[in-house]
Amino acid sequence: MRKIPEIFGSMVFNESVMKERLPKDTYKALKRTREQGEPLDPQVANIVANAMKEWAVEKGVTHFTHWFQPMTGITAEKHDSFIYPVENGKVIMEFSGKELIKGEPDASSFPSGGLRATFEARGYTAWDPTSDAFIKDGTLCIPTAFCSYGGEALDKKTPLLRSMDALNKQVMRILHLFGTPANRVNTTVGPEQEYFLIDEAMYKKRKDLVYTGRTLFGAKPPKGQELEDHYFGVIKPRVSAYMKDLDEELWKLGILAKTKHNEAAPAQHELAPIFTTGNVATDGNQLTMEIMKKVASKHGLYCLLHEKPFAGVNGSGKHNNWSICTDTGINLLEPGESPEENAQFLLFLTAILEAVDKHQDLLRLSVASAGNDHRLGSSEAPPAIISVFLGDELTGILESIENKSEYDQKDAAEMNIGVDVLPKFPKDATDRNRTSPFAFTGNKFEFRMLGSTVSIACPNMILNTIVADTLCRYADRLEKAEDFNKELNHIIRHSYRDHKRIVFNGNNYAPEWVEEAKRRGLLNLESAADALPYYKRPENIELFEKYGVLSGTEIVSRCEIQLENYCKQIHIEALTMVDMIKKDILPAACAYMKDISKEAINKKQLCADISCELEETLLKKLSQLTADLYKEMEALEAAVAGAEDMQDVEQCAKYYRNPVLMQMEKTRAIADEIECNVGEKYWPYPTYGDLLFSV
Ligand code: ADP
Ligand code: MG
Repeated sequence: MRKIPEIFGSMVFNESVMKERLPKDTYKALKRTREQGEPLDPQVANIVANAMKEWAVEKGVTHFTHWFQPMTGITAEKHDSFIYPVENGKVIMEFSGKELIKGEPDASSFPSGGLRATFEARGYTAWDPTSDAFIKDGTLCIPTAFCSYGGEALDKKTPLLRSMDALNKQVMRILHLFGTPANRVNTTVGPEQEYFLIDEAMYKKRKDLVYTGRTLFGAKPPKGQELEDHYFGVIKPRVSAYMKDLDEELWKLGILAKTKHNEAAPAQHELAPIFTTGNVATDGNQLTMEIMKKVASKHGLYCLLHEKPFAGVNGSGKHNNWSICTDTGINLLEPGESPEENAQFLLFLTAILEAVDKHQDLLRLSVASAGNDHRLGSSEAPPAIISVFLGDELTGILESIENKSEYDQKDAAEMNIGVDVLPKFPKDATDRNRTSPFAFTGNKFEFRMLGSTVSIACPNMILNTIVADTLCRYADRLEKAEDFNKELNHIIRHSYRDHKRIVFNGNNYAPEWVEEAKRRGLLNLESAADALPYYKRPENIELFEKYGVLSGTEIVSRCEIQLENYCKQIHIEALTMVDMIKKDILPAACAYMKDISKEAINKKQLCADISCELEETLLKKLSQLTADLYKEMEALEAAVAGAEDMQDVEQCAKYYRNPVLMQMEKTRAIADEIECNVGEKYWPYPTYGDLLFSV
């Protein structure tokens, strides 16, 4: 086996390949584009494209693609070969700067939420030079943003990049005031990814998994996760072989796969990479999810990324670890050594608290999906209520800053935050609270509400924008302040006082928290159908427009796409249920009943006074249950039909939540009861026991 440092990044056109293969001037120009966002000269682009092609062709590559992230939440690619005809019926391999920089896929079949009518279907993809090109499956993939011809974002990457710029601008204003050396800041993001692995052959036997990614039926097996024996348990050989293979594939693509372990539910696992720049982490996570599925197939396994593939055991999420880092290598959420550093740290910390409190709605909707609705608030994931965990030490510090102002005004005015309050900052204040949706974990925040399938682009885009907004207002005041320290104290103190309701260090899974949160006036948007419409609130549109992250029309289109998607997913689930009941479950139950009645008749023929009590009891029970199931299924069909004429997508989403989803749950309960009473060999697909303990 080749050594890891040799494998790592071997399929990536990265910094070291650029340095090696590009003329010095070109390399320097490209570096300026990558690091400072300077536009790239077309001449230079030609040289870069050619070098990329040469490098790729040496590795057996024949095609290139602009790799982008449309609103489907997954990635898209259309492959073009490098061939270019020359005389004598021959071809050469060509790749121009123009082809590198811009592509024009037919965009008509991607969701646009009304942004682009099909008759003007042209969209274009634009190279994102800050994320490295890579080779996948014999194709050179160029990470790109995807826009309509009018310039509206049709993807997840464009607004993410815009938000990183917005945050950079505002953070730089603050750093300038503190005299902290930096030319640019970026967000750093490390997304921990949870997933399930099941046997592929079994997967294929379940229509619900194939069509919807989750089980719509399934009685609880005798054993689930109650023994807590899977979490961090010994990794089984087949899973271990998969994980090794996965690591290697990811390393080749330059993804910093670092940690792997078993998770709480049987058959559940996690992979965490080392953090990197926000947009690179986003690309990396999309690729990771894709490669996870691909490698699974090689091992006869199937990788489920749905948020809740199985009822009764934990679902899967994604933890978005987030911080801000300067190009000079300073993590701005790292409590510092000196008083000045600590003052700066506290300002960023309060800005984040304030942003989270003011924009609970946006953070909540950034993780809203039909799948994630099954997790949030069900004692395995944070509730749908946003709050921040700071830990006792940091909370104590902020409390003392706030109180000082109240009890000792004169002194407070002179107070140097660093010297007075933070003589020595607790550096390893690590978080022991795993229930918080948004936790400070020593030198970064961990946003824990994300579902496992979601693209991390949107949550990060929102996080960046709301923090940029708060910092912008702080910078406005600090730049004008006559006494910088006084104003700084004032901002931290008042911001904390006004927004401390968002801080909650207790158990977020406890039912009392829901009550307490209500008393504090915190939002509790239980479902995606409740949360998504908040996108369109005038103050939110104003916010995104102010920082050039999303325009009003882009926001409205995004909201529509996500609401529609929510409706469609539940719609497909409901139809799948009906199909499985009619074609699989009822026929199985009937076959079993038929055999039981045959058995009873046979017995009677043999011996008239023999007891058929068992057969009668079972038959009565199953006859009733199957009749009930049929009735509930008809009610489900009627409920689904009720959505047909609905025009308003918001109303439609609420309708799919209730009554459709509620009716699905009622229907499922009966089917699961039937499963418990039917002989195993009659059951038409693998059970929970088979699926969860198959590998
Ligand atoms: P846990 O499971 O305890 O939450 P892990 O160590 O598994 O923690 O994951 C922590 C994640 O946070 C990793 O992906 C790591 O790279 C990331 N991380 C660490 N420091 C930073 C930072 N400054 N910015 C963003 N992410 C970070
Ligand atoms: Mg974590």
